[in-house]
Amino acid sequence: MPEDRALELEQRLRAVQDQIGTAAAASGRSADDVTLVVITKTWPTSDIRILYGLGVRDVGENRHQDAEAKAGELGDLDLTWHFVGQIQSNKAARIATYADVVHSVDSVRVARRLGAAAHEHGRVVSCFVQVNLDDEERRGSRGGATADEVDKVAAAVEDAEGLVLHGVMGVAPLRGDADEAYRRLASTRSRLLEAYPTATALSAGMSGDFVAAVTAGATHVRVGSAVLGQRPALR
Ligand SMILES: *Cc1c(COP(=O)(O)O)cnc(C)c1O
Repeated sequence: MPEDRALELEQRLRAVQDQIGTAAAASGRSADDVTLVVITKTWPTSDIRILYGLGVRDVGENRHQDAEAKAGELGDLDLTWHFVGQIQSNKAARIATYADVVHSVDSVRVARRLGAAAHEHGRVVSCFVQVNLDDEERRGSRGGATADEVDKVAAAVEDAEGLVLHGVMGVAPLRGDADEAYRRLASTRSRLLEAYPTATALSAGMSGDFVAAVTAGATHVRVGSAVLGQRPALR
């Protein structure tokens, strides 16, 4: 029943917003400093319309084909589309045609391709450099630039006409300490800020750890299942 779904989404959304507000206040920040990006992967556009009705304007996807289709179907809504998944460089040009914000720029090659396509379409795409937070032997599994690549990727974003450097993004390691990982991410942001004073944003935190991320200074949290429920199936 659509009304039941609407009620369910409203309750979950308000609960997540409350927790963000509480965590922000506890670290002396305003809830307005934290953008909740609702990750809608695997969920239908009807859910996104319900969320829109509840005031959500920032939504994210992690797969190009789904993202492109949903952004197209929902072109009548003034949504901000966030792309958060790993980017194959041959998809970067397409992603630049609909994404407003890309959280997962992790190579110079992807930055250049995104930038060229954004510029060609007269668009400006806001970018996060994804920083790999995994320990050495697990690195590579889930994308992200290593500490010594971050500066090069940031420079490539900054140099690209169609891109604006917004900040850094990280995905907490599957095992291990999210708080520690997010503190490392925050220190990478501080270091980058010296060269790029406008790159103030920090994208961190998913359903399981967004409170820890806000405490560590996240300006963007990417929350899927805590708002939408357990995803129907792994694809
Ligand atoms: C799916 C996804 C999220 C949201 O995950 P949940 O655990 O459902 O909140 C956040 N970030 C990225 C990069 C994702 O792929």
